[in-house]
Amino acid sequence: RPIIDIDHLSKRYDSGTVALNDVSLQINEGEILALLGPNGAGKTTMISIICGLVVPTGGTVRVGGHDIRTDWRGARKLIGLVPQEILLEPFEKVIDCVRFTRGLYGEPPDEAYVEQLLRSLALWDKRDARTRELSGGMKRRVLIAKALSHRPKVLFLDEPTAGVDVALRREMWAVVRDLRAQGVTIILTTHYLEEAEDMADRIGVINRGQLLLCQPKAELMGEFGKKH
Ligand code: ADP
Ligand code: ADP
Repeated sequence: RPIIDIDHLSKRYDSGTVALNDVSLQINEGEILALLGPNGAGKTTMISIICGLVVPTGGTVRVGGHDIRTDWRGARKLIGLVPQEILLEPFEKVIDCVRFTRGLYGEPPDEAYVEQLLRSLALWDKRDARTRELSGGMKRRVLIAKALSHRPKVLFLDEPTAGVDVALRREMWAVVRDLRAQGVTIILTTHYLEEAEDMADRIGVINRGQLLLCQPKAELMGEFGKKH
């Protein structure tokens, strides 16, 4: 059974822009799905709808069987979002960021889990550092720790490596693979084919609001290979 079931999803913004046009897609538990497409394709809109930040104009989304419109509370517990922009309180300590976000989800404190999470992201030694003191890579890992603070089953990463250098990009890829090994389902957006190829099990190509195709990486690469 898919963990996320997107059925005939559409979004037309008030401006008239059709950002998503009848997209249907099922995402299985434990997979890494990359949504690949150019700027303006509709990737962020799709993630934002699933995460409850944007209201769709058509279609349905179910997360773990919970319809996001009728049972948002059930759905949101299963989801973590790493936004594109780094938004952190500069003077907050790393460990407090994670505790605070966990509280926002209504989860009781769990120091053992917070420690495990920070260790798994190589942030434990920095737990008492203020976020402003951290490198770019560490800040991104703090965002991931915040997104995982309530133990979601699905993690969304919106353009996780936009504007970062090659070394940091590779660091992010390693973090994502490690999370998958821990059983987290991952959906990421990217406009780099290389990134989708390197990280994902399945690649969905999205353009002008339409999902053009969505296939296991091996099949997709095989098809491209045949043409050359
Ligand atoms: P991507 O993430 O693939 O770059 P977006 O989902 O951000 O694509 O954008 C898809 C389309 O919707 C673009 O044409 C964009 O300009 C438009 N769009 C995005 N957000 C809004 C908004 N809040 N209001 C109006 N149009 C928007
Ligand atoms: P930096 O230059 O290192 O990014 P700044 O001193 O410019 O950090 O502060 C960045 C933002 O954080 C400012 O908008 C400031 O108002 C806000 N800020 C100030 N004090 C605090 C605080 N105690 N916790 C969180 N944010 C704060």
